[in-house]
Amino acid sequence: MKFLHLSTLPGDPHIAYRQNTLFIEQVGASAVAEAFGTPTYVYSRGAIEAAARQYAEAAAHDTVRVALRYAVKANSNLAVLQLLARLGWGFDIVSGGELQRVLAAGGQAGKVVFSGVGKTAAEMRLALDAGVDCFNVESPNELALLDRVAAERGKTARVALRVNPDVDAGTHPYISTGLKTNKFGIAQEQAVDLAVRIALLPHVQLVGIACHIGSQITTVEPYLDALDKVLDLVEAMERKGARIEHIDLGGGLGIRYSDETPPTAQQWLQPLLARIAARGFGHRTVMVEPGRSVVGNAGVLLTRTLFVKSTPAKHFAVVDAGMNDLIRPALYHAEQAVVTVQRRDGAPRRYDIVGPVCESADWLARDRALVLDEGDLLAVLSSGAYGMVMASNYNSRGRPAEVLIDGNEMTLLRPRETAEQLYASERLLP
Ligand SMILES: *Cc1c(COP(=O)(O)O)cnc(C)c1O
Repeated sequence: MKFLHLSTLPGDPHIAYRQNTLFIEQVGASAVAEAFGTPTYVYSRGAIEAAARQYAEAAAHDTVRVALRYAVKANSNLAVLQLLARLGWGFDIVSGGELQRVLAAGGQAGKVVFSGVGKTAAEMRLALDAGVDCFNVESPNELALLDRVAAERGKTARVALRVNPDVDAGTHPYISTGLKTNKFGIAQEQAVDLAVRIALLPHVQLVGIACHIGSQITTVEPYLDALDKVLDLVEAMERKGARIEHIDLGGGLGIRYSDETPPTAQQWLQPLLARIAARGFGHRTVMVEPGRSVVGNAGVLLTRTLFVKSTPAKHFAVVDAGMNDLIRPALYHAEQAVVTVQRRDGAPRRYDIVGPVCESADWLARDRALVLDEGDLLAVLSSGAYGMVMASNYNSRGRPAEVLIDGNEMTLLRPRETAEQLYASERLLP
């Protein structure tokens, strides 16, 4: 049973107990709840910046230049993007909306890669006009559309081919992307032909190759396997006259939610850079697109216990955060640590921690041993990635507030949504 002996919390040291109270940096979690209510996402600036710095240090190499591109979809709050832009990061986007967020946060279009299997012509126009660095193209028809749109705008689009290396990253099927049965990427058998055909299209220019094999990956091996296949393709493409400037290895590095032991940024990146140099591909740029591993452990979801409810079968803690606020448990059966903000003495009972939403899938955690009473605050740890970005308004619930802690300061990054905001743009019939 995971989570039974949480003597040290999984996640980032910026989020820890002092005496028996959970703190985010210098601020007690209960002070955040008092100021902004619950449910609320709380992020540690120090934790985000520390993770970003670890990547910067891991990226140091004699011959290979590394370009850091944060995957916006993990947490797209403007202030989060702003912090990373200030540290010199570029961004990996998957929609026109994400591009607009990056620009609004002060990010540079010239450091943006545009990923995604279904870009529309309108999104391509937006990205070309903004001047993004590269489109990661995933199919021949997407390439043809991009060539037409670029012609219409009088531009040449820089493209990387996202290939599907067909490796099993050993993750949940919903977050694995590099198997040949997944919708993502161009099959290896087709990639070299497509690289050759690009030369015939006047408004696209091949500059790179890309892959992204999944998410929450906790070993380096699948990346090395994918890298070898990608480098084989680079060799084959260059034999046919293509010139590949950069190799984009995607994101996907896992974090510790409970007892996982993922590699650090350093342990992940250095073997990959070493392999690239050893195979004679130094003096190129390597791009990486981490998302979860930058922000995941930097955030918690604060929620209050509304009721404790015991049935003959189970004890339930009914809390004020639901699957609309944090969908990972319902969607992927993800297990995140849940702790009481105030540690109390007593005999733990096993609870299912469930939300108020009218679905049986509305649970945040199952079978967790906690000492708990009605009114108690709980923190769902490791909620900084794929938390708020996946929140919905199901059951007409406003999305949570988002707060950033920096030392002893709290900043409200986004207020809680009100019901009026939810239906403000709807119209009654005449
Ligand atoms: C989702 C995604 C990422 C980031 O994945 P993480 O698991 O959050 O690191 C990077 N690149 C692409 C193309 C993605 O789709």
